[in-house]
Amino acid sequence: MSDVPSIHEFDLSIICEYFAEMPRQGPGSTEITNRALDFVEPLGPDAQVADLGCGTGGQTMTLAQRVPGKITGFDLFPKFIDLFNAQAKQLGLDDRVSGCVGSMDALPYSPGQLDLIWSEGSIYNIGFERGLREWREFLKPGGYVGVSEASWFTDTRPAEIEDFWMEAYTGINTVPVQLAQLQAAGYKAIACFAVPDSCWLDEFYAPHDKAAEVLLARHPENPAAKGFIENQRHERRLYNKYKEYYGYTFFIGQKR
Ligand code: SAM
Repeated sequence: MSDVPSIHEFDLSIICEYFAEMPRQGPGSTEITNRALDFVEPLGPDAQVADLGCGTGGQTMTLAQRVPGKITGFDLFPKFIDLFNAQAKQLGLDDRVSGCVGSMDALPYSPGQLDLIWSEGSIYNIGFERGLREWREFLKPGGYVGVSEASWFTDTRPAEIEDFWMEAYTGINTVPVQLAQLQAAGYKAIACFAVPDSCWLDEFYAPHDKAAEVLLARHPENPAAKGFIENQRHERRLYNKYKEYYGYTFFIGQKR
């Protein structure tokens, strides 16, 4: 067991404040969103798209450059949604791109309404298998899902990283198992690829330095803020040490 508390033990307002400082709240990049989108048949101006667990909308704005339809991002944190909507407005996309406070397990859609469901680094909140099964109902026949999820890259791994993940998210699995889960949930597996290290190190972890500085400047005496920053540094150290054993995989599926 690690001495560093898990992220689940921290005050949500501290977590939200910290991640609101960052352009994205999980590993990914413009290039990777575009690479995943290359596997989706082009959609028209009537397309309806949902981005679940959208955070402040980093990947959503990339989606919007490629998909001409209506795109709605959902996230639990109102602060993230405010930043999302400000970004959509600044980019002149607010006529068709909007963020809503809402949960990925209670979507305001009718069966068969969506052309595409996107979710980068967020499906773990509901679980990979459950999310894929439940979201499928909202897709049109032949509609697509694009999700990135934590994967093991090897069949065995050192105890330190195994223990960390078993405490953080027991849903992590190997890619062959995840592909089988995607198929069993009613999708044709169109593609899957590993999200490169740079999406973790440069796009995700590097901006943590500034986020930590800002949080500490705002809450110099707050032990929860200091503890959360140490928690994030610990995760970053673990990633650097064990990145050959785990990372994110992008999965693209088509509703059968
Ligand atoms: N997709 C964004 C990205 O890649 O930058 C955010 C990824 S972040 C790791 C996970 C996001 O899921 C957070 O923004 C969090 O607030 C959101 N979240 C957690 N539980 C959720 C739920 N039940 N419904 C919708 N969003 C949720």
